[in-house]
Amino acid sequence: MTAEHDAASGDASFPQAQTRHDFPRNLGVVRARIAAAAERSGRRSEEVRLLPVSKTVPEVRLRLAVQAGCREFGENKVQEARRKHDNLADLDLRWSVIGHLQTNKAKDVAAIAAEFQALDRVRVAEVLDRRLQAVGRGLDVYVQVNTSGEDSKYGLPPEEALAFLRQLPRFTALRVQGLMTLAVFTDDTDRVRACFTRLRELRDRAREHDPDLIGAGGLSMGMSGDYETAIEQGSTVVRVGQAIFGARALPDSYYWPGAGG
Ligand SMILES: *Cc1c(COP(=O)(O)O)cnc(C)c1O
Repeated sequence: MTAEHDAASGDASFPQAQTRHDFPRNLGVVRARIAAAAERSGRRSEEVRLLPVSKTVPEVRLRLAVQAGCREFGENKVQEARRKHDNLADLDLRWSVIGHLQTNKAKDVAAIAAEFQALDRVRVAEVLDRRLQAVGRGLDVYVQVNTSGEDSKYGLPPEEALAFLRQLPRFTALRVQGLMTLAVFTDDTDRVRACFTRLRELRDRAREHDPDLIGAGGLSMGMSGDYETAIEQGSTVVRVGQAIFGARALPDSYYWPGAGG
């Protein structure tokens, strides 16, 4: 395991949430840090949405998170999202798929998700739109951009994002909400910050070019290890898993090829 990976996953520093007392505690810590980061950067904490990322966390524990006030969850893999959606159907929950999507899973996303944050191919937009039209649903989407320059990460190269956004209006079931990114995995805060700044500047340029292309112009950026930095750079959605639920046993390479672990 590399030093970079250690820094990114932070392992032991994320306490497990197992009992019904643990969830309000962990959520309280995260919310307080969001508020402090927002205040430092002259923003209001209500401008930042906390999306709890529940991958690998079993349904019994998600019920405790719901009791502690969570109303939505982000999942990286469609199959896992589908299973949890079905097993928790008695609760009124909003599901966000935040990981790379293969076209053969688009049907499941159209059936269960309110949001998809990893759109980076026209083909996926096309298949999703067709499935959504068939079931009469809409879907909030974020376009994923690779701001770290790492080959191994998903997402569009920044210079292709504008042209990509221009192709989306014809997919009328997709409601573009903004851009999404993962920063480089390192404890070098300046390099992490540069990724977030890049996404914000890209959003600003798209807006200047044509405000209709980018919806509300949201920025989904920031995870357990870097959400405060992301908020300082303008994040409107932070995707936080381990800081709420506890350190994950599975290496991040299971979710992103090349992430280490
Ligand atoms: C897992 C995941 C997160 C959250 O990561 P944590 O380290 O658990 O906060 C955010 N975004 C994506 C795309 C993920 O897969």
